[in-house]
Amino acid sequence: MEFSTKAIHVGQEADPSTGATIVPIFATSTYTQTSPGVHVGFDYSRTANPTRLALERCLASLENAKYGLCFASGMAATSAVLNLCSAGDHVVVSDDLYGGTFRLFDKVLARYGLTFSYVDQSDVPTVERALHASTRMVWLESPTNPLLKLADIEGIAKMCRRHGTLLAVDNTFATPFLQNPLDLGADLSVHSTTKYISGHSDVVGGFVATNKDALYEIVKFHQNAVGAIPGPFDCFLTLRGAKTLALRMREHERNARAVAAYLDGRPDIERVYYPGLVGHPQHDLAKRQMRGFGGMVSFTPTGGAPRARAIAQSTTVFSLAESLGGVESLICHPVSMTHGSIPKEMRESRGFSDALLRLSVGIEAQADIIADLEQALAATN
Ligand SMILES: *Cc1c(COP(=O)(O)O)cnc(C)c1O
Repeated sequence: MEFSTKAIHVGQEADPSTGATIVPIFATSTYTQTSPGVHVGFDYSRTANPTRLALERCLASLENAKYGLCFASGMAATSAVLNLCSAGDHVVVSDDLYGGTFRLFDKVLARYGLTFSYVDQSDVPTVERALHASTRMVWLESPTNPLLKLADIEGIAKMCRRHGTLLAVDNTFATPFLQNPLDLGADLSVHSTTKYISGHSDVVGGFVATNKDALYEIVKFHQNAVGAIPGPFDCFLTLRGAKTLALRMREHERNARAVAAYLDGRPDIERVYYPGLVGHPQHDLAKRQMRGFGGMVSFTPTGGAPRARAIAQSTTVFSLAESLGGVESLICHPVSMTHGSIPKEMRESRGFSDALLRLSVGIEAQADIIADLEQALAATN
């Protein structure tokens, strides 16, 4: 079955008790049993809920995965995956990553005896050199947030297999429509479904996919034991959004390519970060590893941080907001918004400028998107 068909049908058979074509919102915490301990697979909604199960089956199919588990947020999903590690384990992490992931690792999990090394994952040997005897997991983002660097998932997966190290990939930016980490050899694919998968900026959620029985059992156990589960209404919204993921991603990408080319052609822009640009250092890897370049574009304007802040306040089609992946265009100044928790020295050593702006290019009419950037750049020049 092709991607769009799976998005619309997998896990979404007509409800057997009513014929409802759309998976109902099963707003129930408990389930009536026919005799003690006898039920049809649902006993308590932290453990299992039919709306959540439909979403888990659908999203697993989009990642070509045997198993899928949904969580209350992307961070809850990340935390569940890190539960595969125990005190004393070491994790090698991308040096350019979602600020909240850094905060979870650095401020929460470090207190439980995990250690983390942050390395440039655009180079496989650099990642390999960071591994040592207690390294349990490599955690990748590709493309990264906000610099849109790529990691060679297949190359790193092969290297991890040689060392007996798990590989988890945060696939939020690419989405399963453009990239399937498990097919490239990763053990786990993790998503903030808050972003492109739900796609309408109206719900927060997370998802983990894996093909490995043993990993599934542990993450599933954690899902139930810790209880950071999404409610049935959240699952319904996410499933409704996922049905149009393919349509939306095609349009996000068409608009993002146009925005990247437009910015790249302007003399008052210092640098544009977009894997679809021929000048992107990993453009060839992007073509090999992904089925498209996605909807995120970052750039640094001339004029430094003051002009970047002024641009962020001058757009009207682009809302000044955190988050990404919704149908509406968003502009963000990562240093003062999403990535404030990353220390300045660390940002600077990674080439992450205080003038950086990040765009989540929406699916409004392309002409309106470009015209909005044009007027904001002109007003601040
Ligand atoms: C948003 C995001 C997360 C965190 O997800 P939440 O749903 O906000 O908890 C993790 N990784 C990436 C790449 C993200 O963009």
